Amino acid sequence: MPKKLIIAIDGPAGSGKSTTAREVATRIGYVYIDTGAMYRAVTFIAIRENLLKNHAAVTEYLKASEISIVAAEGENRIIWNDEDITLKLRSLEVNDNVSEISSIPEVREELIVKQRMVGQSGGVVMEGRDIGTVVFPQADLKFFLTASLDERTKRRFKEVRGTEQVDEENIRKNLSERDDKDSGRSVSPLKKADGAIEIDTSDLTFEEQVTMIVDTIRKTEKEFRS
Ligand code: C5P
Repeated sequence: MPKKLIIAIDGPAGSGKSTTAREVATRIGYVYIDTGAMYRAVTFIAIRENLLKNHAAVTEYLKASEISIVAAEGENRIIWNDEDITLKLRSLEVNDNVSEISSIPEVREELIVKQRMVGQSGGVVMEGRDIGTVVFPQADLKFFLTASLDERTKRRFKEVRGTEQVDEENIRKNLSERDDKDSGRSVSPLKKADGAIEIDTSDLTFEEQVTMIVDTIRKTEKEFRS
């Protein structure tokens, strides 16, 4: 039996992490975990409960709640106290506030415990901002995906076109603001982990980037066997 690895994929918003990580996990039969969805869930609840400006109250609310991430068939569902809120996590309002909520140290502590619980026995492709640096610094393989802001804006626009009233400039602004906040915060800032393989996906096709990662994982699995 090959060893079940822990694979960390980090990178800025819109770098293609989620779609790539999901496809990689499906191809190698691993569980895919989208940690951004967990930060989005706390943000959605903070907005709904009118707690955005009260960080202590957000933490208290989170601690008193049950949040779980259910991974099945390449999809992640977020359940908050029995309520499935998965479809509510991609709104503009959540996009605009998630970097602030994810900068609360106590929120990070709570979510990291859960992320370690789901990933520790391996066979997982976990993506986010701090997986290779903080959640699993001992991950067997770490990838850092990047792409130019232009390319990321184009991709995100294509994704949401037709589903929401958004223009390209707003998307660019949100991505760039999130980059700044996520990289500049004092706890677990977005940065390339030591030993991470950096892949600039600006000029790669989706198939190329997936194949590159899957091939590297296969090679590493073999090294663990020999
Ligand atoms: O990956 P996604 O863009 O959905 O993440 C939403 C936000 O959640 C990020 O902009 C960041 O503020 C936060 N996040 C984080 N740490 C992670 C994953 C996401 O701070 N591991």
